[in-house]
Amino acid sequence: MLKLYNSATRTKDEFVPNDPKLVTMYTCGPTVYHYAHIGNLRSYIMEDILDRYIRYMGYPLKRVMNITDVGHLSSDADTGEDKMLKGAKREQKSVLEIAKFYTDAFFEDCKKLNIRRPEVVEPATRCIGEFIKVIKSLLEKGYAYEAGGNIYFDTSKLEKYYVFNDFEEEDLAVGVREGVEEDGNKRNKADFVLWFTKSKFDDQELKWNSPWGVGYPGWHIECSCISMKHLGPKLDIHCGGIDNAFPHHTNEIAQSEAYLGHKWCNHWMHVHHLNTNAGKMSKSSGEFLTVSLLESKGYDPLVYRFFCLQSHYRKGLVFSYENLDNAAAAFDKLIARTAQLVSSEQGAVEEEKLAAMKTAFREALDNDLNTSLAVTALYDALKADATPATKLAAVADFDTVLCLDLIKKAEKKANEAQYDESDPIIAEILAAIKARAQAKKEKNYAEADRIRGELLAKGVELTDTKEGTTFKLL
Ligand code: AMP
Ligand code: ZN
Repeated sequence: MLKLYNSATRTKDEFVPNDPKLVTMYTCGPTVYHYAHIGNLRSYIMEDILDRYIRYMGYPLKRVMNITDVGHLSSDADTGEDKMLKGAKREQKSVLEIAKFYTDAFFEDCKKLNIRRPEVVEPATRCIGEFIKVIKSLLEKGYAYEAGGNIYFDTSKLEKYYVFNDFEEEDLAVGVREGVEEDGNKRNKADFVLWFTKSKFDDQELKWNSPWGVGYPGWHIECSCISMKHLGPKLDIHCGGIDNAFPHHTNEIAQSEAYLGHKWCNHWMHVHHLNTNAGKMSKSSGEFLTVSLLESKGYDPLVYRFFCLQSHYRKGLVFSYENLDNAAAAFDKLIARTAQLVSSEQGAVEEEKLAAMKTAFREALDNDLNTSLAVTALYDALKADATPATKLAAVADFDTVLCLDLIKKAEKKANEAQYDESDPIIAEILAAIKARAQAKKEKNYAEADRIRGELLAKGVELTDTKEGTTFKLL
């Protein structure tokens, strides 16, 4: 039974879905005004582990993610410029062009990191009608008010607003932080905007008609509405990075439960931050590391996934190239060990031993998704006194959750190991494969095909896999 830390109860709660026939999970998606940095992707990797583990446990899962393409202002609260507009100005493009470009870039990165694409991915700009419907209802029920042209949520109407923390209102009061102007329209400091019509930024590019005038939605209402639209009035799990807990998720709960009139989401999972020595990695400040940057430095993106799995999602993780190099070396060893198994005499699968290996793996993940212990279970399986077939079955099973492509990478390595790289003929083939990969990268497909044809004429057959190209001497 999975026990998962719940930020709402501050305990490890048993995961019991509302309906075991379909578990529902909502993930706050990226704000698509820039590339995702590897900090953002740490959150998505760890959420992906939860997604895959729920399926591994045998539950069907429907997962929804929004794309924030409007309304996320620079301060996370209700002040500052819309981040999308900032991105569009920076690149002298339209907001929708920026949104499309960075949404595609985000899913490219996810693909490289083996992060599953959720069943539903919904940009906020496609749900304006939903937002208006819910805001109207909140006004009717007295949970919202109009002031200065904007619609605000009235947090004083709730018995408990700060659900995740016992913060003092003064500590967190939005709008009174240094350098940020207080919004005089708010009745209470914690109130937040549901719909903007009057913003300091009149050049907001995307605006829609509403009963309250031409304007645009606040960021928080987007996630509540997109979740309810696709997953209904009761949600099993909501996830996001820890910085989303306040104010974003706090506001989501406030407005969703006020609208629904009952408890909305049972379980809140928050992934802690990736930091550098200079502090939290963020899109707007400090060092900005991307998957492409790691690739350009020669790292396999899955090394970064492995690096993330080695530590617990509820602890801050410090990124440094030294730490990443250690993960890369350990990952190589893991592949090499698996490759040895691939090339050896397999034997039969020993079912009892395999079952014990799987139990150790499940126990690790059942304990609040302890991925580093799950990786230990993987090492233990590889070291165990068992046939290669048993060990490979364990690796394949665990990798449906860890998703490090261990078997495929091991098969490729085993294939290469059959050949002696110091043999000039083999060295020539490997150089040709490299040149072909470069040609493909440069989209010079004619050259890539020419190299393939030339090798085939020499009796070398190439096979392209996700991990790279393997060859066979005919
Ligand atoms: P954003 O694109 O800024 O809306 O953020 C996308 C996701 O990344 C959210 O769930 C954030 O909470 C999360 N996030 C932002 N910065 C970090 C970080 N340094 N480490 C881990 N997750 C982060
Ligand atoms: Zn959200």
